[in-house]
Amino acid sequence: AALSRKNDVDIKGGWKTGDPVPYAALAKTFALIEATTKRLEKTALLTSFLYLVIQRSADGDSNSLLQTVYLCINRLSPDYVGVELGIGESLLIKAIGESTGRSIATIKADLKKEGDLGLVAMNSKNSQKTLFKPKPLTLSFVFSNLREIALTSGHSSQAKKVSIITKLLAACQGHEAKYIVRSLEGKLRIGNAERSVVVALAHAAVLAEKDKAGKKWSKDKLTSRLEEGANIIKSVYSELPSYDEVIPALLKHGVEGLRDHCKLTPGVPLKPMLAKPTKAIGEVLDRFENKRFTSEYKYDGERAQVHMLPDGTVGVFSRNSEDMSKKYPDLVEQLPNCIKESTKSFVLDAEAVAIDRTTGKLMPFQELSRRKRKDVKVEDIQVRVCLFGFDLLYLNGEPLLKKSLQERRELLRKHFQTVPGEFDFAKSSDSESVDDIQTFLEQSVKDGCEGLMVKMLETDASFYEPSRRSINWLKLKKDYLAGVGDSLDLVVVGGYYGKGKRTNVYGAFLLACYDSDSEEFQTICKIGTGFSEEALQSHYDVLKPLELSKVRGDIKIGGAKPDVWFEPQIVWEVLTADLSLSPVYTACARAERGISLRFPRFVRIRDDKGADDATAPEQIAEMYESQALAQSKGKKKGGGD
Ligand code: ATP
Repeated sequence: AALSRKNDVDIKGGWKTGDPVPYAALAKTFALIEATTKRLEKTALLTSFLYLVIQRSADGDSNSLLQTVYLCINRLSPDYVGVELGIGESLLIKAIGESTGRSIATIKADLKKEGDLGLVAMNSKNSQKTLFKPKPLTLSFVFSNLREIALTSGHSSQAKKVSIITKLLAACQGHEAKYIVRSLEGKLRIGNAERSVVVALAHAAVLAEKDKAGKKWSKDKLTSRLEEGANIIKSVYSELPSYDEVIPALLKHGVEGLRDHCKLTPGVPLKPMLAKPTKAIGEVLDRFENKRFTSEYKYDGERAQVHMLPDGTVGVFSRNSEDMSKKYPDLVEQLPNCIKESTKSFVLDAEAVAIDRTTGKLMPFQELSRRKRKDVKVEDIQVRVCLFGFDLLYLNGEPLLKKSLQERRELLRKHFQTVPGEFDFAKSSDSESVDDIQTFLEQSVKDGCEGLMVKMLETDASFYEPSRRSINWLKLKKDYLAGVGDSLDLVVVGGYYGKGKRTNVYGAFLLACYDSDSEEFQTICKIGTGFSEEALQSHYDVLKPLELSKVRGDIKIGGAKPDVWFEPQIVWEVLTADLSLSPVYTACARAERGISLRFPRFVRIRDDKGADDATAPEQIAEMYESQALAQSKGKKKGGGD
């Protein structure tokens, strides 16, 4: 219903069953999605388009739908394969110049005015006089060219990339250049998060199946089938986050058949389960009242999801599903010693922690971050790591997500073994007494950990929930007890030049959180104290190449006025004394006032997180509310403020 008659004809008119999908149809759909702010309408528009792609795909062709979905979420492969775009502004400007004959200076001037290189590319193309119409672009041609650009590396790769982009742009018509350039930049900015794409995909598949079978459903039945379909695809995808697997299975076995054909598979990393912050042991006890729970050390290292395939291949994946096997060849090598003979294949959830092999002492995350990220040779390794296993998600052909933590933990302990300095089970205590938990918390900090993770142990509340920040896992950090509850992971979006001795570097920075619903960065604070000269220099070296000539359109600025803007890419972990309302910043803004951090303090760079993984506004709002609640309780008790 969201499609107007004219647009409907525009999109539908473009191709026949079995023909390649025209890229123009996708670009048109993107333009319609971008033009509305209504969430339901956005989903309906994408559903209509995906429905057409399914209906018009030849039998056995799952590639058309697969490539369409990838372009809608602006990715080119599953996360763990890591084929990524994110082409720099200057390269794109060069290509736009070459394909339209406009000078770099005019393109830059336009960019300053518009703030969106996609729009500049489209306008440049559309104002160009051409003698004949270029051959229409197909979606699959665009997809394979984007992949080629992403995969080009090494000698003269920049020139090769510019040449492919130039050719692509030369063939663009209508809205195409805008979305191709934005895809290349790595941000579509149409306000359609992956969650909505998954819902649209499910709806399209349900509707296509219904129409193919010639079924007539009542409105209620249709609504419930659509909802059910979305739940199935979401749950299947959370176990097997690879469209390469899920989409062909969806077309072959239908929505209902997906669960039987797509299950957690070693080799395909799942998004890890995350925890909610708590400020006091009392809060933990309130939450887990009358339920069995366990407290585990919260190790201060890097999350490592370790997979072993039946053929013995071992893979180590990060929190973001990046393949870290090249960063941790020592873990890969150590692993066979840690498993018992009965263990043939598994997926283990663990923390890799830097350790001093002579004293057996754990070392802080900073030590671990000194390791190279790529192409590490075991013989060159200075900082050794010990793996602390805390969960088992798959064992010998069977997914364990729907077993209780108690059962998973038993299986873990039965099928793995401790190797001093190489592998151990996360230290835990199942006591439910406040005193014991307090003692265990203090012990964990003495042993070099950040605090505790408190987890539901039994019933379905203890199932493993991939990608969820779940209330059934609570984190209790020593730091929280004094501050607002948790550190925040924020994106550096702007810089302020330093004063005095510091004029050659940035002396302060503008930080933002990320709202994945609106795909928007919301400013939250300026941070500028507590940095050493060396730290400022090294931040400058990292951030200088990310300077932009104009603030990006997806940054909700508010009243902040930094001297320079950055490509939102770098994530910092930050602590704060408390949260307050401010008319300057836009985080969680309601009625002109956003939430801001007071006395923010830099903790570390989070290079295991992308800008999209930054703390979400809802989490910040939750922190703000729980702080307000704690303050009002304090006042009631006569604690003043
Ligand atoms: P943070 O910002 O607190 O470092 P995060 O945002 O990456 O963490 P959280 O859910 O907040 O994720 O905290 C859980 C993290 O703590 C896990 O990702 C994991 O790396 C680490 N961790 C250490 N010990 C454990 C444990 N015993 N159980 C689960 N996670 C653990």
